[in-house]
Amino acid sequence: MDVIPLTRPWFDEAERGRLLQALAGRVAGDGPFGRRVEQLLAERTGARRALLTTSCTHALELALLALGVGPGDEVIVPSFTFVSTANAVLRVGAQPVLADIEPVTLGLDPRDAEQRLSSRTRALLPMHYAGLAADLDGLLELAGRRRLLLVEDAAQGFGGRLRGRALGTFGDAGCLSFHETKNVTCGEGGALLLNDPEVAARAEIIREKGTNRGAFLRGEVDKYTWVAEGSSYVLSDLLAALLEAQLEKADRIAERRAAIVARYRAELASWAAGHGVALPAEPPDQQPGHHIFHLLFPSPASRDAALVELRAAGIGASFHYLPLHLSPFGRDLPGAHDPLPVSERVAATLLRLPLHPLLTADEVSRVVEAVTALRP
Ligand SMILES: *Cc1c(COP(=O)(O)O)cnc(C)c1O
Repeated sequence: MDVIPLTRPWFDEAERGRLLQALAGRVAGDGPFGRRVEQLLAERTGARRALLTTSCTHALELALLALGVGPGDEVIVPSFTFVSTANAVLRVGAQPVLADIEPVTLGLDPRDAEQRLSSRTRALLPMHYAGLAADLDGLLELAGRRRLLLVEDAAQGFGGRLRGRALGTFGDAGCLSFHETKNVTCGEGGALLLNDPEVAARAEIIREKGTNRGAFLRGEVDKYTWVAEGSSYVLSDLLAALLEAQLEKADRIAERRAAIVARYRAELASWAAGHGVALPAEPPDQQPGHHIFHLLFPSPASRDAALVELRAAGIGASFHYLPLHLSPFGRDLPGAHDPLPVSERVAATLLRLPLHPLLTADEVSRVVEAVTALRP
């Protein structure tokens, strides 16, 4: 029996054609494809500026560098997240402080974050799990009251909106991922969304090895040179070309993902209610990005058993993050010795179902059949 994969990118002639087009020209970063994609991203999200990067991990580092976060600073990060959220903080020489998530959005809990603030705290770094916004109202209120920066890890947030506004555009910076597993992809890639032109100008220089090459390419200066400390975070135009084709079908990708989620919700609702299983939250003011569809089981044992049964039925179901404060590296971080009960419970009871634009109606039926046969 074929295993139904958890995720799969939708590539076809559109991507192949665009790659060949890019190969005929120059393929370094900040070229014609990259410029167009940055424009498309800015239009789609409403961000003043979008900068393509080699990954979301690098977009996070670049955001923190451009905002001046560094040695001596602390950044509040949720424990239930991908390692990049915390690694980016370490890479710029600052200290990640782990905090708990709240149980509705599974994002950073502003009340728990507040308890972990110190005189060194510079920023909050929430993550929008599954494409659903974290409690941005609460986090923005806290950031405003305590004069903190807010950087959004919107790696999973592409397409997600809160009251009509795109995730990644609420804080001082937002970071998107175009990794193979994300909603739109170029294999490996990311973007930094910014609203402040001064921060954007700094980020553009840091991204180009500390040079003003970007301004040079726009004809704003007559030669380019070393003007600041920097690194190399710019996305190749070859990958930007691939991403352009993906962005052109982003609405079709989103429609397919939404249709699958709608079927899962409709066809799993009564089974879930009858067995103490929770479906993802649906806050009325959100248009979710539908990046992940997950179930929260009543106990770790029932989740583990479900994983075994679904895999035996050829369903590529999966668990998700081990909380960072329980990981071999993360357990030495500040905050890691406090209990973070929501992160621990969610990590132990969450199960993801296959969700990608190439899932067929028959495959969705197979998933539903296998899930509704579970007796947690
Ligand atoms: C995928 C992901 C990242 C990392 O993205 P890359 O583009 O692979 O660097 C960071 N944070 C979260 C929450 C992610 O899901």
